Amino acid sequence: MKLLDGKIAIITGGASPRGLGKATAQLFADHGATVAILDLDADHAAAAAADLGTGHIGLPCDVTKKDDCIAAAKAVLAALGGIDILVNNAGITQPLKLMEIEAENYDAVTDVSLRGTLYMSQAVIPTLREQKSGSIVNMSSVSAQRGGGIFGGPHYSAAKAGVLGLTKAMARELAPDGVRSNAICPGFIATDITAGKLTAAMKEQVLAGIPMGRAGEASDVAGCALFLASDLSAYVTGSEVDVNGGSLIH
Ligand code: NAD
Repeated sequence: MKLLDGKIAIITGGASPRGLGKATAQLFADHGATVAILDLDADHAAAAAADLGTGHIGLPCDVTKKDDCIAAAKAVLAALGGIDILVNNAGITQPLKLMEIEAENYDAVTDVSLRGTLYMSQAVIPTLREQKSGSIVNMSSVSAQRGGGIFGGPHYSAAKAGVLGLTKAMARELAPDGVRSNAICPGFIATDITAGKLTAAMKEQVLAGIPMGRAGEASDVAGCALFLASDLSAYVTGSEVDVNGGSLIH
């Protein structure tokens, strides 16, 4: 059964080849959605969209810039004729300790996850409200719930906790318009976000804290995003769904 037939989905930060956004885009496409991949680099975004099959598009968009988000939403409407789903997936992380966080670290990390989630949501909400339907899925992190301790520093935990608050406040405000907003809290997933800075010792320590005994796969997160984007979750809003192999059971 195809769960997203005829739906149009925007996925931010979807160009990273082994990333959660790309895996989500592929699963959405496999389920009948037409996907717009937004990412910093136009060529990377276009190449990722081409990988999904025909009809999908890639657009440059820095989600920390409101004008970029508005322009991208307009371009999706012009090219694809609608917007039904937004996955706010773009995010960066840094393995810093509390006292190492400088202003530029704080700005970089909170701006992509939190400001970006706000701006991109604001860019699509008028469309979703008008059609009285839509699903927004925000990528938070187990770091928001357990106070880091995996890879990202306290500023990352704070940004992702901010995403949870924003998700829930959006759910409350948008529910009367038939628009849902939910968050995913992935645990430790094998992608390139750690940018080569994850040492073998760090990895061993993280794996020791995962009852299922393995890192997650991008497809584990994509499956959850599919559930939240589709009508299977029609009565689910304001929730945070854990995809963490049991690393935080609460
Ligand atoms: P990734 O580094 O593979 O991909 C992130 C993508 O976001 C990249 O393509 C990058 O170019 C893009 N991006 C960065 N800044 C951007 C901006 N300003 N505007 C638009 N795009 C931007 O990372 P990933 O592991 O796939 O992570 C995806 C999301 O999941 C992130 O929000 C991350 O914080 C979250 N997450 C990841 C893990 C994990 O273990 N991998 C765990 C919890 C949460």
